[in-house]
Amino acid sequence: AAKSMGGNRYHYFTQSMQEAVQQRMHMINDLHGALENNQFETVFQPIVDLKTGEICRAEALIRWHHPVHGVINPASFVPLAEDTGLIQAFGDWVFLEAARQAARCRKYIPGFQVSVNISPVQFKNGGINTDVWFAHLKSLELPPQAIVIEITEGLLLEIDESIADQLLALRDAGMEVALDDFGTGYSSLAYLKKLDIDYVKIDQMFVKNLTITEEDRVLCEAMTLMAHKLDIAVIAEGVETLAQLKMLSSFGCDCVQGYYISGPVGDQEFEELLQATHKMELY
Ligand code: C2E
Ligand code: MG
Ligand code: MG
Ligand code: MG
Repeated sequence: AAKSMGGNRYHYFTQSMQEAVQQRMHMINDLHGALENNQFETVFQPIVDLKTGEICRAEALIRWHHPVHGVINPASFVPLAEDTGLIQAFGDWVFLEAARQAARCRKYIPGFQVSVNISPVQFKNGGINTDVWFAHLKSLELPPQAIVIEITEGLLLEIDESIADQLLALRDAGMEVALDDFGTGYSSLAYLKKLDIDYVKIDQMFVKNLTITEEDRVLCEAMTLMAHKLDIAVIAEGVETLAQLKMLSSFGCDCVQGYYISGPVGDQEFEELLQATHKMELY
């Protein structure tokens, strides 16, 4: 296609492609040293129980503080980490950070949980080093019940015996499992039951126009009803307004997460938030 646009354009096209490739190579190069140079931070976003108003959970989200480019969001670098195999080490690091935060928060709220995003790639190429994860929990005297694993529908598409075994090992130890970005993929609904999923997280794309478009309202309500029929709790993501929160609550949605409550904050700020407003006035 580039050639048919003529010689000149072909030249510019290849040049910008070259730039893109070079930029990617620089990023990958920087990413290799990011962990040992302490450039990562884990931030935490509260998840609130709609029935009690309590902050019952937090989601751990990774940030990269690049010395030149500033804060880089996971959407930009997680795919690179996946392509280069670095995601295994990063994932182990985030897990430990999440576990540490869970241990700190459990001092105020005994049943508190922290959820961690796990890339499908972490389950491959030798898989998750579950022994290391369990050792972390032990050293923190933290029960596995304090951790929720967030997997995506993409993982269910590629699920094989090895992946199912790893998930089972985490589950058997007592960790809970949430299906992230629910409704955006093409996963078989049969897996919800088969894998004993504890939570579905309704993707923010459905919540965004929830109070504006009939279709999104119907979808959110239907997903909630279906999950509940299967004994699965529902967490809605990307809740930015009181109107969205109220509507989700009227469907029986269990928990909400989003800027209306709070964006992700640093670990200490989260602890302060928890101490100050553990129970929120939602309505
Ligand atoms: P996710 O797991 O679905 O996380 C929710 C994303 O929505 C987060 O973006 C969060 O900051 C953002 N968000 C929260 N509330 C609102 C809201 O009210 N409105 C809007 N518009 N957005 C909201 P973030 O932190 O940029 O993460 C993006 C994705 O990157 C995550 O989506 C997750 O799939 C991935 N990710 C983040 N941290 C990790 C990690 O440690 N490991 C792996 N493997 N993936 C991660
Ligand atoms: Mg998530
Ligand atoms: Mg999500
Ligand atoms: Mg998402």
